[in-house]
Amino acid sequence: MDFSLNKITPDSTQKEQEHVRVLILGAGPAGLSAAVYAARAELSPVVLTGISFGGQAALTNTIENYPGFPDGVGGTQLGELIKAQAEHFGASIVYDSAMSVDLSHRPFSIKTYSKEYLADALIIATGASPNLLNIAGEKEFTGKGVSYCATCDGWFFKNKDIVVVGGGDSALEEGIFLTRFGSSVTIVHRREALRAGVLLQKRAQENPKIKFVLNTIPLDIEGTDKVNGLKVKNVLTQEETVLKGDGVFIFIGSTPQTQLFKDQLEMDSHGYLILKNQMETSVPGVFAAGEAADSIYRQVVTSTGMGAAAAIQATKFLENDEK
Ligand code: NAP
Repeated sequence: MDFSLNKITPDSTQKEQEHVRVLILGAGPAGLSAAVYAARAELSPVVLTGISFGGQAALTNTIENYPGFPDGVGGTQLGELIKAQAEHFGASIVYDSAMSVDLSHRPFSIKTYSKEYLADALIIATGASPNLLNIAGEKEFTGKGVSYCATCDGWFFKNKDIVVVGGGDSALEEGIFLTRFGSSVTIVHRREALRAGVLLQKRAQENPKIKFVLNTIPLDIEGTDKVNGLKVKNVLTQEETVLKGDGVFIFIGSTPQTQLFKDQLEMDSHGYLILKNQMETSVPGVFAAGEAADSIYRQVVTSTGMGAAAAIQATKFLENDEK
């Protein structure tokens, strides 16, 4: 799975130009919420979805902590709902990806496959993509038993043994979800203490299908034409074993998708965009929201809040521009 917006070499051919007041990059909770607010400010925002509509939230089967949905809401469903709301107020959602950006002067230039957008203000909501383990067999077996999305692939593992790697909220939440399909779910974590919240830990520990293998690191993914196990090492005893499984689901955090803005916007050593002033990046008129600029909270609700705030600030910026 590749969520990056910038893996394609920009071409130098002349493209059709479109001038927009606000361009939003990314259609996860942050980008779509920014679109609702910018549309209601009558700025007719254009949202470029990139490769993955809905962002990482769309990889989650049920979001249980998004306010207003006491029974939870599907990740994809939430994206579709915010999209409908944004379109209702006049936003345009375009299924295209930014290939290159020039933020050195305004209007900013954003080139996609088919067009060059000239934007008076830009909101970056490109999100983050799942980290890889970078062990043998991982790339080879992706789609053949290795997965980063339980919602997308869990069904393929009905009555099978599943191994989950990671000890954070994602690993436990998705591990619990995977017990709907698998006959067993083994969660492998590299330390003794789990990183996930207490409530999730309790629910996972009480689930009869879940087993924890702690203080253990993955070594390689084994199989022939498809996965049949994960080789692991106990870091306390150095003992190596193979955990039998037909599926290996990896949930070990994520990396912000900000490579497109390298050398143009200030970012920290992990690639998170630095917000200088009220959602604004190091370039006036360029705002950011969601996981591209948030290394701390990384929740759907905080991303939607950041999206709204970025759009409010972009609106103020454009108003001052007109004075
Ligand atoms: P995370 O909190 O960064 O946890 C990543 C887990 O993977 C950690 O347990 C980490 O181990 C482990 N890990 C990292 N690199 C590894 C490697 N190379 N080999 C083996 N294990 C490795 O990531 P996350 O679970 O995706 O959560 C990200 C954010 O989203 C968090 O803020 C989380 O609270 C939030 N989230 C919230 C919910 C919810 O509230 N319902 C659901 C999902 C995610 P260590 O613990 O040893 O570092």
